[in-house]
Amino acid sequence: MDLQQLNPMQRKAAETLNGPLLIIAGAGSGKTRTMTYRIANLLSRGVPPFAILALTFTNKAAREMKNRVTALAGSAADEAWIGTFHSICVRILRRDIEKLGYKRSFVIYDEDDQNHVLRDIYRDLDIDDKRFPPREARAVISDAKNRLLTADEWFAESAKDWRSQKLHDIFVAYERKLRASEALDFDDLISHTLQLLVDHPPVLQYYRNRFQYVHVDEYQDTNFAQYSLVRLLTEESRNLCVVGDDDQSIYGWRGADIRNILDFQKDFPDAQIIKLEQNYRSTSNILDAANQVIANNEGRMDKVLWTELGEGEKIKLCSAGDEREEAAWICERIRRMQQRKVPYSEIAILYRTHAQSRVLEEMFMRAGIPYRVYGGTRFYDRREIRDVVAYLRLIINPLDEVALKRIINVPKRSIGDATVNALETYAKEKDMPLFSALSDMPDTLSSRPRKCVGEFVGIINRLTAVQETMPLTDFVQLLLEETGLIAVDEASNDEEALARRENVMEFVGAVREFEEQHEDATLASFLENVALVTDLDRQEDAPQFVTLMTLHSAKGLEFDAVFMAGLEDGLLPSNRSQDDEDRLQEERRLCYVGMTRAKKFLCMSWAKRRSLFNQISYNDRSRFLGEIPAKLMSDDWARTMNKHFGEREDTQFTVRHTPAKPPKSNFGIPGMGQNADHIPGVHKGFVKPRPKRAADAPTFKAGDRVLHRKFGEGTVRQVEGGHNDGRVTVMFTAYGEKKFSVSIAPIVKLE
Ligand code: ATP
Ligand code: MG
Repeated sequence: MDLQQLNPMQRKAAETLNGPLLIIAGAGSGKTRTMTYRIANLLSRGVPPFAILALTFTNKAAREMKNRVTALAGSAADEAWIGTFHSICVRILRRDIEKLGYKRSFVIYDEDDQNHVLRDIYRDLDIDDKRFPPREARAVISDAKNRLLTADEWFAESAKDWRSQKLHDIFVAYERKLRASEALDFDDLISHTLQLLVDHPPVLQYYRNRFQYVHVDEYQDTNFAQYSLVRLLTEESRNLCVVGDDDQSIYGWRGADIRNILDFQKDFPDAQIIKLEQNYRSTSNILDAANQVIANNEGRMDKVLWTELGEGEKIKLCSAGDEREEAAWICERIRRMQQRKVPYSEIAILYRTHAQSRVLEEMFMRAGIPYRVYGGTRFYDRREIRDVVAYLRLIINPLDEVALKRIINVPKRSIGDATVNALETYAKEKDMPLFSALSDMPDTLSSRPRKCVGEFVGIINRLTAVQETMPLTDFVQLLLEETGLIAVDEASNDEEALARRENVMEFVGAVREFEEQHEDATLASFLENVALVTDLDRQEDAPQFVTLMTLHSAKGLEFDAVFMAGLEDGLLPSNRSQDDEDRLQEERRLCYVGMTRAKKFLCMSWAKRRSLFNQISYNDRSRFLGEIPAKLMSDDWARTMNKHFGEREDTQFTVRHTPAKPPKSNFGIPGMGQNADHIPGVHKGFVKPRPKRAADAPTFKAGDRVLHRKFGEGTVRQVEGGHNDGRVTVMFTAYGEKKFSVSIAPIVKLE
């Protein structure tokens, strides 16, 4: 095994094969790469692949690691278990979950399914969703499960007031519903695996014997349940290698516990600790800036990070008037990067919340920049796709009530809510699953609904009967026809129906692809694959798109050019973190994660005025920008605007929605005029609008680069008319073509 591709410390880590090992290091120091080489090294020394377990944060990371290990150590790697916590747990559960009283064909409920379950519970228990937002209930349940608490245990440690009582009722009902539907949510996947191992010693012993070498990447973001699982599996072998960076712990809000990595030495006093210090990803300007920001956090592990990649370019800063100006600036910079041969696939735009993508998307579309939103409305979240999937789920597991209720009247077959309610009540009375009530209908049901329900059951039964006798793709096609799902959309010809039809066809394509890739493809394994494709994994591998994603989903990735948008106090750091030191530190880590994704170019932007979530706010620049030494940044946008149009004025914005705080410093950024810098809420006007008289109206010619006060930079396409009444047509990167009168438009020629 050739470990020459590693530096001495990395090599040491890849060669330390026995005993607990902690690799702790800053971003881009090759932690993931080292872990990959370590696995390949184990294989090359004859460790059987099935003895190796590696847990990654996303399926994508797992796929990449697997490919890499295969490239290094050959196809033996195929048998090593490399996957996310969730996917590995599913594998364990599929084998033995019957020991917990579940069927092996259990289904996995995602957020949307959970919401359906909660909706029913709220109705049954007569709970007001304004007072108990389902989101909150979900968070309580998830948090409890991550801490391995049952509903009762959770209640015992709650405030035990009326509110907790209600949440407890919801929790209990939720668990009952999932159980009755043979369904597990994502948190259950981990906690049930733990339960299986704890309650069934032979199973535990099997996996302990089997997994002689366990690896965890991004260990700083494990929660208690995940941590417990890892501890349990490795207690005997003690061959555990964890890799992480305390400065990149960003999932505290989802139960991740940074102490897991900080206390690793306490858990394993004999642990070897290896620190990596050389960063291979970013230029020194980027790295220094990120280091300076994170230095403001407390309680960090001591770390050094340096690079040999040279200074590189300064960080480009854009202080924009509003979010549209910000987006236009980003478009313009992307255009320039294209000229410098940075491929779209090496460009990412990172933001704090999903909602920020809308304006960026609009501008990108206009500017003709191809993009993909990572984790937006997922393909599998689209209504028509969820309908097909619900049918498939029901066929595998008739107890899946969420699926059944979703499609019993899709496409419309005259089974109204009243009928469904009657059936539900009847099922409850008789203590039988809803699907059974469909065959054994109550006498009270009149003949028409009886007939419709009968037909529906007929379809499902017919499909169930042929399911195992047909190739998967053929079966799905048959299902689309039999159920009438395709026919409905064929009948109508509007755009939406067309898009739906395309999506359904795309789905059939996905089934086919799955079948081609997996020799032993079954409906169950396909559905499992669908359920486990989380939004973190929706990044298309196609090379020709810029990527838009939240800072959270960017973890572990790297790009030549990174844009971080919306660096405002109130957005990053988020509003909720402003008065909470722990949260503020997590936001700072998030900022650090974002900055360290960049290899060569880092561009950061903020807008004084932003409309988001249908609200307008006036913000200060993020305090994190203030933590970056001025010498590492250049705000050429503000400089250019100031030079040509004078300083921006603030007078017309006396009414503010969010009171802005006084700035903390002026950051010494060249070109940021004191006034412009200090005025919160400026965006449109300028103190000294340049008089535009015919006499000094500039002369333009096609091809000239120009700057417009509102539309930003563009290229002159056409000039018409004489000197005084001339008109120019300009192509703006982000706004498309516009026509102006030269004598009055706020437009100047750029050198
Ligand atoms: P993060 O903290 O963001 O997860 P990381 O520590 O896991 O980062 P990697 O993603 O493994 O870092 O590596 C960062 C980049 O540096 C990758 O492109 C990797 O190939 C490269 N790299 C790491 N070590 C070396 C090395 N010894 N020689 C050359 N390139 C390296
Ligand atoms: Mg990594």
